Formats: sequence, structure tokens, C-alpha cells
Amino acid sequence: MIVDFHAHCFPERIAKKVIINLSQQSGNIEAFHSGTVDSLRAQMRQMGVDISVVLNISTNPRQQTSVNNFAIETNSLPDIVSLGSVHPDSPDALGELERIKEAGLKGIKLHPDYQGFFADDKKMFPIYEKAGELGLITVFHAGVDIGIPEPVHCPPGVFKKILPYFGGAPVVAAHMGGYIMWKEAIRELEGVDIYLDTAYCFGNLPMIWASRIIESHGAEKILLGSDMPWSRTDNEILFIKSLGLSQDEEKMILGGNAARLLGIN
Ligand SMILES: [Zn+2]
Repeated sequence: MIVDFHAHCFPERIAKKVIINLSQQSGNIEAFHSGTVDSLRAQMRQMGVDISVVLNISTNPRQQTSVNNFAIETNSLPDIVSLGSVHPDSPDALGELERIKEAGLKGIKLHPDYQGFFADDKKMFPIYEKAGELGLITVFHAGVDIGIPEPVHCPPGVFKKILPYFGGAPVVAAHMGGYIMWKEAIRELEGVDIYLDTAYCFGNLPMIWASRIIESHGAEKILLGSDMPWSRTDNEILFIKSLGLSQDEEKMILGGNAARLLGIN
């Protein structure tokens, strides 16, 4: 089973505009689907992807409800697992986490750069604790975001500090624990109980660093991710397959770990 743990799509009426804006903001990077859930699913079929985890992000407090409504709607599709999102400045963030749980979503995505908070800001701790109590998976954008200037809001070193607030509920650090902060990701995350996804690594993460991160962190905690539409899932799969891992390790990374984490088979 192939599970892409890191993909994006947007509601039909805004998809085109969102893709253009995000692409421009990130140096005119190419988009590999047109932004809708249908175009993502068409690409999945072509690339042999069984399930994509769609990571939705609420970039302002007013959007929170509609972002999660879209997540709930798309989560009903057989090949899509959609995660919700809360905005730290929403007065109802904790209540929204309960709604997310009740609606059957498996977790949330937080993007500290897009949502304007530092991952270890104490205003976040009640949100982390609530997500943990509800047993939700929390995915963080980690490391540099190419569309947003410094400072980095979620460097790899922050996870040791914030993980206890989740009370053992699963946490995922995207982009191998810290985009373009590879050395720090190895140093700071070795032995830390956290999943890492491979999103946007093809062509960006040197193979030698990929191998070192997987070796030091353990293949059982690595999840295939693409960041579709910003990187192709088939390229990310080829990247994993080029690292000389054992067949078992490849199977775990390409879908086995994600299936276990999401409770699917
Ligand atoms: Zn992403």
C-alpha cells in the first residue's frame, strides 16, 4: 500500500487562486495538480498512490470552520484522509478540536510560519494538550518555509521541548524534521519519539543526508510524503527507492507506517 502522508488540495472555488498565490510566493515553483481534490485524485491514480493524507491549514481564525468543513467533506472520499486545523488565535480553538474529533478526522496540521506562532509559544500548550487528550495526530511544518522569510518558527530543536504536552499522542514533523536544516534534524531528533515525513525532499535533500536521517531516526518512524502539488509523489517514491534501504524498510516508509498510524489496512 502506498500512502502519501503529505498532500494539499483546496475547495473548488478558490483552488486556482490559491495555487497561483502560493506558487508566486515560493519563487514560481511548479504545481503538479490544479489544486482541486479531483485533480489530486487523478494524479494519485496515475502514480499508483492508494491514499493521500490532505493537510489543511487554517491561516486565519475566521477561516477555521470552513477549512474544517472542507476537511470533513473530503475525508469521506475512499482514498483521502483529511486532517483538520485550528488557528491559535481563534477563541474557539479547543472546541474546534472536539468538533474535529467528533467528525472522525484523525488529526490536525499546524503551520507555525503561516499561522504566525513559534512552536514553543506557551499560548499553544493548551492546544497541544487538548489534541493529545483527544488522541489526534498533530503534523507540524518543520524547518524553513521557502515562501516565508526567517525566522524559522519550528526548527527541529523545538520538538524535545513541546512533545510532552501531547501526552504520547502521535506528532509528525514534516520535511524530515526540518526543511534545509538537515544536520540539526539529525542532531536534535535522534531518539525522539516523533514521525518525520519526506515531503518536498526529492531534489532538495541530498541522498547522503536522507540516509543518515533514516538510519539515526529509524525507518519505522519515516512516512512517505510529497507536498503535492509542489512535488510529485512518484518522484518522492523513486527517491526513497534510490537510498538502498531493505525491502522491509521501503515498505514501512511507503505506506506501512502510515497505515498503522492511521489505523487502516
Ligand atoms: Zn505542505
